[in-house]
Amino acid sequence: MKILIAADMEGISGVVHWDQTSSKHPEYARFRKLMTGDVNAAIRGACEAGAEEVIVADGHGSGRNILIEELDPRARLNSGSPSPFAMVQGVDGGVSAAIFVGYHARNGSKDAILDHTWSSSSVSNVWINGQAIGEIGWNAAVCGHFQVPVIMISGDQTACAEAVELLGPIETAVVKQATGRMAAECLPPEVAQRAISDAAERAVGRLRAGERPQPLRFETPLTLTLELPHSDKADRAAILPGAQRVAGRRVEIVVDDAPTAYRAFRAFVGLARE
Ligand SMILES: [Zn+2]
Repeated sequence: MKILIAADMEGISGVVHWDQTSSKHPEYARFRKLMTGDVNAAIRGACEAGAEEVIVADGHGSGRNILIEELDPRARLNSGSPSPFAMVQGVDGGVSAAIFVGYHARNGSKDAILDHTWSSSSVSNVWINGQAIGEIGWNAAVCGHFQVPVIMISGDQTACAEAVELLGPIETAVVKQATGRMAAECLPPEVAQRAISDAAERAVGRLRAGERPQPLRFETPLTLTLELPHSDKADRAAILPGAQRVAGRRVEIVVDDAPTAYRAFRAFVGLARE
């Protein structure tokens, strides 16, 4: 049994502000250590329940956040950016299930720490076949293409609720109760990491017992609709071959599968950012 642990930073224990997730800010050093701790907690729980192999994807920013010198030696680390599958790099390597650690709610959510979808400056909304998704949905859809179910998530209460609504009754570890975009009641890391480890252990235990959640699949071909915050960003995103400009701030593209939609989305955001 091989488990992919996909890690982001905004949903890590104690994080409530962008400064804590930005390598340019002195607070970042503390929170990358906490991110490593949250990831190690998930590795511990997964291995205790019988995971034989663990691959970690460092999915925040440039993918250079997790302190490899402190990583549980039972895991391997996909680090750096860009990689073909970005936040779920390694998903195509025979993975049994995925665990999302430190995830956050999609852009526009209420009471959600640092809610955004990929880029707070370039993405307002994303839909696949008319269904609104954020990073939880994107990464679950890429996992779903490879028949990989997401079995657990950690983050604030809103991110966990978004995952359950989209994916069904997966295991959750709520490490903070958000009362806004930049305020939350946070569990101390020791308590939060125990919750993460316990949830990972339950999730892998359920998987071993034959209880396998349905991987997230969308009907093909997929229609990806992206709403940008300003029309000039849509002007640039619409340069992507195959894209249709469907409204002042919206572009759309029809593709064959979820990994191609993910690539198109990343290309749209790259163009929009220029
Ligand atoms: Zn992030």
